[in-house]
Amino acid sequence: MSAPKLPDRVRATGDPEWASRGACRDVDPETLFVVGAAQHKAKVICLRCPVRFDCLADALDSRTEFGVWGGMTERERRTLLRRRPDIASWRAFFAGSDQDESLASLPQPMRVVK
Ligand code: SF4
Repeated sequence: MSAPKLPDRVRATGDPEWASRGACRDVDPETLFVVGAAQHKAKVICLRCPVRFDCLADALDSRTEFGVWGGMTERERRTLLRRRPDIASWRAFFAGSDQDESLASLPQPMRVVK
């Protein structure tokens, strides 16, 4: 039996130039490098970003410690990495080739705003 597929909107695009397409490309970079509760306000920028899951995959795979990436705060990413040590490549996970659970079972910050 094959693994369930995530809807297209939560998939990484696979575009190596994803950073140039981010919703934050014209925003002051400091906006996403705030601390504490301000990160929850900052991550709203990411919710409709067309390359959100490319960005998140890079941050998770490279264990980026600081700032908001892919719509998740640094604390949320740490929690996710602790919960899912079995995921060796988040890029592959978001590409759908290494995915083993439905969107509904993912933590809330990873869900997509429609
Ligand atoms: S997900 Fe957020 S931080 Fe990443 S490129 Fe998009 S807007 Fe920028």
